Amino acid sequence: MTSNNDTLFTRAQRTTPGGVNSPVRAFRSVGGTPRFITHAAGPYFWDADGKRYIDYIGSWGPAIVGHAHPAVIQAVQEAAARGLSFGAPTEGEIEMAEEICRLVPSIEQVRLVSSGTEAAMSALRLARGATGRDKIVKFEGCYHGHADSLLVKAGSGLLTFGNPTSAGVPEDFAKHTLVLDYNNPQQLEDLFNQAGGSIACVIVEPVAGNMNLLRATPEFLQAMRRLCSRHGAVLIFDEVMSGFRVALGGAQSLYQITPDLTVLGKVIGGGLPVAAFGGRAELMRHLAPLGSVYQAGTLSGNPVAVAAGLTTLKLIQAAGFYEALGAQTMKLVQGLTGAAREAGVTFSADAVGGMFGLYFAADVPDTYTAMMACGKSRFNAFFHAMLDAGVYLAPSAFEAGFVSAQHDDAVIDATIAAARQAFSRPAQTES
Ligand SMILES: *Cc1c(COP(=O)(O)O)cnc(C)c1O
Repeated sequence: MTSNNDTLFTRAQRTTPGGVNSPVRAFRSVGGTPRFITHAAGPYFWDADGKRYIDYIGSWGPAIVGHAHPAVIQAVQEAAARGLSFGAPTEGEIEMAEEICRLVPSIEQVRLVSSGTEAAMSALRLARGATGRDKIVKFEGCYHGHADSLLVKAGSGLLTFGNPTSAGVPEDFAKHTLVLDYNNPQQLEDLFNQAGGSIACVIVEPVAGNMNLLRATPEFLQAMRRLCSRHGAVLIFDEVMSGFRVALGGAQSLYQITPDLTVLGKVIGGGLPVAAFGGRAELMRHLAPLGSVYQAGTLSGNPVAVAAGLTTLKLIQAAGFYEALGAQTMKLVQGLTGAAREAGVTFSADAVGGMFGLYFAADVPDTYTAMMACGKSRFNAFFHAMLDAGVYLAPSAFEAGFVSAQHDDAVIDATIAAARQAFSRPAQTES
């Protein structure tokens, strides 16, 4: 019997490149047919064959209160009934900005946009406009959306130009992006000593979630803060993933480091397109209409999207929300680690708040290189065994996972039971 997922995937590939609207959804890394989702509720979603999965991607982060939360759905329905978009300001946008500024104290002013890509791109332009400098610094393995300047990997030496990671990005753009190793404060110090006066900004995921989960060391982020301050560069924390995910105040509250600008997305939209960038008012004043850095958006601060985001931000402030989320996530990673040990599989796992990483390696990796050395074929076998058992993990060995407030003990226990079976499945040959 052919599966509806197969039929839909064949059909999708006729009119959509690769059959998907964002690459990782295509299962290219793990092989097989992507699941087409029909609906979701709490910790679950269902595919086109009616199969239910425990969902550990949560729309790649936004579904922190669980899918189709009644309060979020109600807020969206009420906002939609009042009109979908006005192209003029609304009170909801003020409330949203006030809430963000209150929850993330480094943000004195914020601008709402529609995607993390747009927010990161705009933050870079602001940093360049405010400093009058062109060079930006990023770290290998961090993802900040797909703006031209950010699709760049390391060149051959510290001061050599970065190389585009995508066709269509001119060398002339890439040459302004310097790419360094994550968790290497000495390298950052050397770079600033050589070229500090030309660096507009450093952008970093303070808890990295796009090369699996990788924690920054405190020394790395502290060095970054010190060097940016000394050399007049703007420190940008990209908390699109870690914001409202690793803690209510984001990674900056865990590390107690104050960035100049913060980029937000994912959770702040509660499943609809809201992202934001904000920071010191003195920097934000450079934005149009006050300043000379242009930035705009037809659907920025869209009233329906803001209703979803604002309701989600209210729900995550419930007493004990992050304690419970962190405890469930810890229970999951400890259970998986125990199941791997029983099966004799080399495996480790880590969690920060409601975000986790699974590694087919003896120790939790602390560098990009160590991360890339993790067993990909073992992960792929594990992924498919879990999928068969009704557990949907990110379809790549190098993506983080997400737990929601609706992943209760029964859901976590069912996941660990599935993992006991999955760990005993043999690995496919390394491709
Ligand atoms: C997802 C993500 C982005 C891009 O956000 P989009 O809404 O997908 O454009 C940027 N930075 C980080 C850290 C992300 O995780």
